[in-house]
Amino acid sequence: MKIGYSLLLSEYINANSINYSDCINFQIVCPSCKEPIFKVVRDSNGKKLHYLSHFEKDKSYTENCELRVSEISVNHINSKNIESRNQRLKFFLNVFKNTIYNTEYSNSKIAKKQIDKVKNTKSLDKYRQHLYEHSKKIYSQNNKNDLLEHFEFYVNEIKELVGEFYKTSFSIEQQKKIALDIWYHLLSPKAKENYYFLLNHSYLVLISRIEKASKDRTLFDWEIYLHNTMNEITISSKDRGNELISSLGLYKIPQETDWSADNLYDKMSAEISFEMLGCLLRLPYFEILKRAIKKNKKTN
Ligand SMILES: [Zn+2]
Repeated sequence: MKIGYSLLLSEYINANSINYSDCINFQIVCPSCKEPIFKVVRDSNGKKLHYLSHFEKDKSYTENCELRVSEISVNHINSKNIESRNQRLKFFLNVFKNTIYNTEYSNSKIAKKQIDKVKNTKSLDKYRQHLYEHSKKIYSQNNKNDLLEHFEFYVNEIKELVGEFYKTSFSIEQQKKIALDIWYHLLSPKAKENYYFLLNHSYLVLISRIEKASKDRTLFDWEIYLHNTMNEITISSKDRGNELISSLGLYKIPQETDWSADNLYDKMSAEISFEMLGCLLRLPYFEILKRAIKKNKKTN
């Protein structure tokens, strides 16, 4: 059959869109009899055929299932999937902050204080607003391909830095899909607080990224200036902070050391956006969903 049902996602899944190991992680079952199924790829006249198959069942049994599954309407599949996707998004947004505290900071109290410090920096209020509007313009639903390219770039950069991308239980393609969904949601007015939270986190990540780089190589002058200024902004008065932010805009980056931005303000914004998307890409969605299901079973 071409379609399976994921117990983990509560969604119908097309055989084309998953790989072999996704079948186990997504807990893919036959939509008709609810027994586990597995992925098969077969060559047919030079074309790859992707389908899902029962484990050791006789022909009449599987034929019966095939028939029932083929009778499921596209409308039913779509509406069920949209409903589940919305529920999942709502759930992810509910646990968003805690997930980041847990996975990015091992729940450390110092980290919470640091994020709070960035959050409470008044001179960054306008900056956050600016980046939010910018994200809505540049990385909205209409620019899905740009975003996917951005993800690809991020994965490659991490691979270059540490050899491989963070191991996640879902395939990277599934991670991208979920990250995209969450990102679009963060851009809606309702989720603005979470967007700002992710921004504040990424602000800190950028500072520590520069610190890490300083251990491997000599930093450019503009990197040192950016690092010091970003730190200083968080401990300065609002007026002084605003002055510092303006100074970033006036600081020109020599083109031979970085071609991606012309001044430090733009560079900081590009790097923070990059980190925000990267963070969404590496969150352990599979583990979060599994834990939630376990908890649900206990309380029901
Ligand atoms: Zn079946």
